Amino acid sequence: MTPQPNPQAGAAVKAADRAHVFHSWSAQELIDPPAIAGAEGSYFWDYDGNRYLDFTSGLVYTNIGYQHPKVVAAIQEQAATMTTFAPAYAVEARSEAARLIAERTPGDLDKIFFTNGGADAVEHAVRMARLHTGRAKVLSAYRSYHGGTQQAINITGDPRRWASDTGSAGVVRFWAPFLYRSRFYAENERQECERALQHLEDTITFEGPQTVAAIILETIPGTAGIMTPPPGYLAGVREICDRYGIVFILDEVMAGFGRTGKWFAVDHFEGVVPDLMTFAKGVNSGYVPLGGVAISGAVAETFARRPYPGGLTYSGHPLACAAAVATIHVMEDEGVLDNAARLGAELIGPGLADLAERHPSVGEVRGLGMFWALELVRNRETREPLVPYNATGEANAPMAAFGAAAKKNGLWPFINMNRTHVVPPCTITESEAKEGLAALDEALTAADEHVA
Ligand code: PLP
Repeated sequence: MTPQPNPQAGAAVKAADRAHVFHSWSAQELIDPPAIAGAEGSYFWDYDGNRYLDFTSGLVYTNIGYQHPKVVAAIQEQAATMTTFAPAYAVEARSEAARLIAERTPGDLDKIFFTNGGADAVEHAVRMARLHTGRAKVLSAYRSYHGGTQQAINITGDPRRWASDTGSAGVVRFWAPFLYRSRFYAENERQECERALQHLEDTITFEGPQTVAAIILETIPGTAGIMTPPPGYLAGVREICDRYGIVFILDEVMAGFGRTGKWFAVDHFEGVVPDLMTFAKGVNSGYVPLGGVAISGAVAETFARRPYPGGLTYSGHPLACAAAVATIHVMEDEGVLDNAARLGAELIGPGLADLAERHPSVGEVRGLGMFWALELVRNRETREPLVPYNATGEANAPMAAFGAAAKKNGLWPFINMNRTHVVPPCTITESEAKEGLAALDEALTAADEHVA
């Protein structure tokens, strides 16, 4: 579809937004949100006729792109027959979504508790773990993101939690492996893995294993930089959890539903099955808000004859569940997972590696499927980040220049701190991926200007 410019309509949308919408994660008077007129597939456009290739998938959730006709039709059909029905009843869209999800989750994660998104999925997973074990503490990793609600932001290990941290009662943080910026003076993945596991076990020992309810990890941390854990790490965490009776929670809100080229990121780690697994975003490409917790047999058993004390008015909302059912069918029928895996391995991965060779601002490229990060640095030797963490204003000028150059070339980039993440829809075509890589090339030239 070709966008028709309509600047007047755009100005009205923007004026109402500026007057009344309170935006997430923002100083309200220092932002200038673009007014979006429409979106389709891998693109969106504004009211001035600018069209952008979306390398962000929104907030890493439109895994099948915008406005997929089959999912739009499923939502319309559901709206026509049963727009809503309370969670205490068995309704077709809800039970079918739960069945399809449970059949794709690993091991015995066979019961699905539906939430409205990712943060509340994390809230409920943690509550289930505490009730299941009768213990209070939760161990979470620095360099993690688990959501913006009170408990989820306190569990989060990225600096954004500071401003609203209430003391993080019951949360203890540890360092998970990340060789490029190793906290363990490791020289290779094997050392990083061994030392990270030892550090985790030491943390548990000093906290008191009998006080630890859960360890929560993103299978592949997303917002914090897309760091695939080294072979053996997740299996090692599983083993530690088993040894101390700790519930292992994997957060697949960002990495799940095709993002890595498999249903779930944990599918890349043979034999690893968490006790609880959170999901959201890609489950229905975010067309209608939906998240959830996949629950193992053992944890489900705790609540077989004792009520689970928690719920949400819109848990398993029929519109959201109908969208999930249709999304899962689209992923399967249209080979979306294979597309993400193949283009990631054959085109985007090699394309980004080539950019890294030619641009001194790229310190590291890492990722898989449609889940990639470029770490931008001032100096490749010292690995000094291109901008300081949480840089704003002048301090953020290099990343701002990178972003502006990308947009000038028709690419909407994902920027977080000193990184750009390449996270397009899993349905991206070969020619779109090539177009995006070419625009990134131009944008990185702007970043190179700031290399020391
Ligand atoms: N967990 C992870 C791993 C996430 O990436 C996110 C969001 O980015 C969340 C939880 C929170 O999800 P939501 O924003 O839907 O509440």
